Amino acid sequence: MWFIVLFAILVISILLSLRYPWWRKSKSGLRVLCYHKVGIPPKPYMKDLWVSPEKFRKQVKYLIDNGWNTITFSELNEIYKEKKQELPEKTVLITFDDGYQNNYEYAYPILKELGAKGNIFLVWNTLGKANTWHNPASEPWINMCTIEQIKEMLESGVMDFGGHTLNHPHLTKIDPEAARTEITESKKKTEEALGRSLCAFAYPYGDGAYSEAMRKNVFDAGYIFDFSFKEGITAWPWEREKNPIDRLYIKGTDDITDFALHLKKGNARII
Ligand SMILES: [Zn+2]
Repeated sequence: MWFIVLFAILVISILLSLRYPWWRKSKSGLRVLCYHKVGIPPKPYMKDLWVSPEKFRKQVKYLIDNGWNTITFSELNEIYKEKKQELPEKTVLITFDDGYQNNYEYAYPILKELGAKGNIFLVWNTLGKANTWHNPASEPWINMCTIEQIKEMLESGVMDFGGHTLNHPHLTKIDPEAARTEITESKKKTEEALGRSLCAFAYPYGDGAYSEAMRKNVFDAGYIFDFSFKEGITAWPWEREKNPIDRLYIKGTDDITDFALHLKKGNARII
């Protein structure tokens, strides 16, 4: 009998250690949280991409209570330019991909209220419209931020903005010249509308993040930082010529322990 109990304890311990991999090595470097939609998912199978406002508030509160300093792309640029070797301890970027209106409705007021900062990667041609690059059968179209909302968030100092192309294509699967235009033109148009320069770019689907030619397009356009879709903490000082900046993908199903593990280890659940 005792053998069965011991065996059960062993199995539960293994499962728990895979679910919450506490044993991974802690890492140092730049942490970049990656969110998409903040709100209640319209369909249950979308629960990973949608983080509820309650959960988001809890996560931002965790950052503040644990001494994390949330910064903007522009602030990261200052650190990168002026003090290349030093990244203040506990520096984190909160980023949102695509520019959904729910970022304005839910995330922005929470960040503002708790005294934190965030950053949104915009898909220029979809602003004020919908996420038309998705197949509405699998991913319903929802509203994207309008230029007025973006300006309001920018002026508040709470949100900063980066580029995420014109139409959200798979950059390596379209004509190279079209890919270049997607990167360059979206930067130019957003900068004209906002009256300030953009320093950060994220590859839609992470596609192109490890292509030398695509990264060259991004840097030729004048971007300083490029962000991948790969899980991880980026060693600092950042070796820009080698790799893009990794991110920590926060899922709607993550609990606060997953969130803490992401920050500490650069990764969370295995199962
Ligand atoms: Zn995207």
